[in-house]
Amino acid sequence: MSAAELPDERTAIVTGAASERGIGRAVAHRLAREGWAVAVIDLDADAAERVASEIHDVHGIAARGYGLDVTDRAGSVGVVDRVTVDLPQLVGIVNNAGISSPTAFLEVSEDEWRRIIDVNLNGAFHLTQAAAKIMAANRVGRIVNVSSASAQRGGGVYGRAAYSASKAALLGLARTLARELGPHGITANSVSPGSIDTDIMGGRLGEDRKAVLLKELPVGRIGTVDDVAGVVAFLLGPDGGYLTGVTYDVNGGSHIA
Ligand code: NAD
Repeated sequence: MSAAELPDERTAIVTGAASERGIGRAVAHRLAREGWAVAVIDLDADAAERVASEIHDVHGIAARGYGLDVTDRAGSVGVVDRVTVDLPQLVGIVNNAGISSPTAFLEVSEDEWRRIIDVNLNGAFHLTQAAAKIMAANRVGRIVNVSSASAQRGGGVYGRAAYSASKAALLGLARTLARELGPHGITANSVSPGSIDTDIMGGRLGEDRKAVLLKELPVGRIGTVDDVAGVVAFLLGPDGGYLTGVTYDVNGGSHIA
């Protein structure tokens, strides 16, 4: 099997996948639709199990939910171990769990700074390292980090310095893993969404907020979770094998690099 080929029965971990209107749940569904077994990871074990059972019911594929705070290193290693027992060969990981904050740099406390870096960056480190050891042993793997346009354009419409710094670090991590893990049959890429209609910015986007955002969007609409899910699934899927170290900007043209 070449690095581009994927086993027929394969599993992807998606972190932060239990939020009702979130990107992670849409990614998990999309991957299941394309034949991946899915490990749904989120803070709330019951919510993760609910999404997993919904995925199983809709797509008829194996799915399991796991409660985990991704900042917990031992817990992360333990969950990856369980995934390897519960589900088919672990081939993909999507580092999607994330938190944001509108606190200005001059106001942000050390505690808030550390929590954002811990969830968004260190969580990806813990899970990816554990998962990559298994992928390297099998000589096939796909890693996708969910970054943000905020990392590229100096702050988002909501997230400020801590968020942007954590999301920029994820880009650097994926690029480095692309070089370091390529010889082990593993690709590593990022998606960098612009404004996507979820609850991360403190609830649903109001019409006035949407109107402001639309002014910066050449495609003329706010992004959806499915816009992101399709790109993630492509990077993980059979046609993604020759892409590594890339960043896909899923932003409707709000930031054109
Ligand atoms: P969301 O709040 O709906 O989802 C985030 C998920 O992460 C939730 O399910 C939450 O429970 C989970 N989570 C948070 N902290 C966790 C932890 N410590 N351990 C485990 N799970 C944890 O938000 P979303 O918009 O779907 O965001 C998904 C990802 O997309 C985030 O990384 C976010 O930064 C990124 N993103 C979102 C947008 C946007 O406009 N919505 C834009 C760019 C990037």
